[in-house]
Amino acid sequence: MAWFKRDKKAIDQPTPPEERRVRTEGLWVKCDSCRAIVFRKDLEENLLVCPKCQFHFRMDAKRRLEMLLDGKWTEHDTGMVSTDPLKFVDTKPYSKRIKDAQKKLGMNDAIITAEGQLNGKPVICCAMEFGFIGGSMGAVVGEKVTRAIEMSIDTRQPIIIVSCSGGARMMEGTISLMQLAKVAAALGRLDDEKLPYISVLTDPTTGGVTASFAMLGDLNIAEPGALIGFAGPRVIEQTIRQKLPEGFQRSEFLLEHGFLDAVVHRKDMKGFIANTLDLLMS
Ligand SMILES: [Zn+2]
Repeated sequence: MAWFKRDKKAIDQPTPPEERRVRTEGLWVKCDSCRAIVFRKDLEENLLVCPKCQFHFRMDAKRRLEMLLDGKWTEHDTGMVSTDPLKFVDTKPYSKRIKDAQKKLGMNDAIITAEGQLNGKPVICCAMEFGFIGGSMGAVVGEKVTRAIEMSIDTRQPIIIVSCSGGARMMEGTISLMQLAKVAAALGRLDDEKLPYISVLTDPTTGGVTASFAMLGDLNIAEPGALIGFAGPRVIEQTIRQKLPEGFQRSEFLLEHGFLDAVVHRKDMKGFIANTLDLLMS
């Protein structure tokens, strides 16, 4: 019966049904602090700071350098790759973990060394990348920081290191711990040369990075609300058997207790560093 059966073929669908939904995913972001729903574009234009409560979202290394440096910069020591000296395996092999991170982020390890200008002043600036195995410091990060400090000495330029790290890279065991001494020794030489080192601590800066270069700046400045510490709060509570005070290990608490020199809002960071360099270099 032709009346009930369709003779002609259905009209071709220009898009398959699964693609007909309106894509809103990723356009909006929920603030981790005040729970406000923020338009992603507004957040990005506001340097990843919540416009409602000023919560500082984590910023990747590349964007950090774009924020701090004027225009283009020269990147150094890009080719250094971890050799996986312990052939370490946990839930997956460390070598695979590195390869995955390299593929995801398009960088070889958890730090970028840049030589550029900050408000017209030549500087060396390192920025750590938390997305790369928690911004952990293995042999590559330690060596790159050391070389950046040595470059700062050779070229008589001040150095700025922006930390964002969970600490030493446990997959490299004692080799990652040796970086602490190496970097600290290089900073000692920088100090002899009377060149300034400004350490910028962002959320989070913990473990071996706090225990070495992050706390050794001529000036240690942090972003608001950043978690900064050595061991985590639970470990400390269990060790000292005491309840920790409110806001413990946050920038503001550390400033109040003399561990930091300043807490600076992200939008003021570049200007603040430029003024500091003016004072220290003149
Ligand atoms: Zn907020």
